[in-house]
Amino acid sequence: MSSFDSHPKVELHLHLDGALRTATLFDMATTFGLSMPHGGIEAFDSLVRASPDCTSLEQFLKPFDVIAPILSHPDTLIRATREVIEDLHAQHVIHAELRFAASLMTGPKRPLEAVVEEALTGLHQGTSQTGMSAGIILCVFRIGSVDEALHTARVAARYRDRGVVGIDLAGPEAAPARPYYEAFRLARDAGLGITLHAGEACGPENIREAIDLFGATRIGHGLTLERDLRLMRQVIDQDIAIESCPTSNIHTGQIRSLAEHPFRRYLDAGVAITLSTDDPSLSRITLNGEWENCRRAFGLDAMDFDRINENAIRHAFIPASEKARFAKRLERRP
Ligand SMILES: [Zn+2]
Repeated sequence: MSSFDSHPKVELHLHLDGALRTATLFDMATTFGLSMPHGGIEAFDSLVRASPDCTSLEQFLKPFDVIAPILSHPDTLIRATREVIEDLHAQHVIHAELRFAASLMTGPKRPLEAVVEEALTGLHQGTSQTGMSAGIILCVFRIGSVDEALHTARVAARYRDRGVVGIDLAGPEAAPARPYYEAFRLARDAGLGITLHAGEACGPENIREAIDLFGATRIGHGLTLERDLRLMRQVIDQDIAIESCPTSNIHTGQIRSLAEHPFRRYLDAGVAITLSTDDPSLSRITLNGEWENCRRAFGLDAMDFDRINENAIRHAFIPASEKARFAKRLERRP
């Protein structure tokens, strides 16, 4: 069976700051006069990507020590976001939702609104250039303050008509989610999509909380869902999507290899599973590469590919009329 490279596809779980081109970060770091390693762009590349044999969250997140100070500079997100759209378009992505913790990029001269506007400017440049559809999901940081979470939700609601489509809860999963409930309620009332990272580093109780308390219609990772078969039944009955990012799960030490991933079992059981990359540049993967890895590891055929992308578009944070339009485009496979 040939690869899925040229097939139209959907990407729902991608962290903007983990998807940037090394050359762009290098350019920016040089322009800002940040201290650089000896050895030029090759040496720099190893600082902004996780090591290929990375198997712990701590190691995996290390590149953000270099990336975050670069993105703390005003206007960096315009180019960064536009290029992520270009890179996805080149892989035949027709709709993508890019997420990031905008509250971590604010500064004295860069309020949250300015950070979000930069990303939206880049997003609109990218989408008008390529014809691709895309939206922004703002991440609430799991160990951030409740006030910061509420502010993120209010700003997300204010920019809902300009390209912000949802909010997410990200960060160390062992920290309680409950303090952020009010922020998610506010976002839900404003009509934004709700997704939470859950069941990645912790058990299925976090997935249950995300669905029953927070009203999530999508779950980031959901690796531990199969440990609670009643909950798995509920996920199927309520048609909750699982945003699966298998290679990332290896790099953060949750599984040792794709053979351990429950992807195939979820798909066969009727869970609305989707396939995404999480932090493609950190993981040194592309969406097309991830499809190829998963095609081999999970024995995915063309019908599986269609189902997974239909799941994704059905759960995209876009109006029903747009979903219908994209579903038609997904049918037109080469
Ligand atoms: Zn993620």
